[in-house]
Amino acid sequence: MENCIFCKIVKGEMPAFKVVEGPHSIAFLDIFPVSKGHVLVIPKRHVKQLLELSEEELLEIGKIAQKIGKAVLAGLNCDGFSLVQRNGVAAGQIVPHVHFHVVPRFKGDSLSVWPSGPKAEQGELESVLLALKKFV
Ligand SMILES: [Zn+2]
Repeated sequence: MENCIFCKIVKGEMPAFKVVEGPHSIAFLDIFPVSKGHVLVIPKRHVKQLLELSEEELLEIGKIAQKIGKAVLAGLNCDGFSLVQRNGVAAGQIVPHVHFHVVPRFKGDSLSVWPSGPKAEQGELESVLLALKKFV
């Protein structure tokens, strides 16, 4: 896609700090890091959301995300990492090219993904489970 910044990175038309590259995906440093060592893992093919990824792409991205996780733990001495992936504007997706964030976490960092909600009622859990099970 022409105006996609991630596609430009894939094509080498925009510079990036590439950490690792596979046949179907690349991982590079986010230049607006949430924390030191924030890495994005993306497919080389322009697809907007998770559901459009092929099994092959998804598998490679998962393996690369795991590798990056190991690398940030070992190389940056962080205490953990978050793996975040957003689909759609409502979920906070800004760049419409599917991407996975690997965010190094440090004890006491003030990053908060979301507050936990109140405990769900039994009936709600049962109805949600029924709604989901039709489609898995
Ligand atoms: Zn793209």
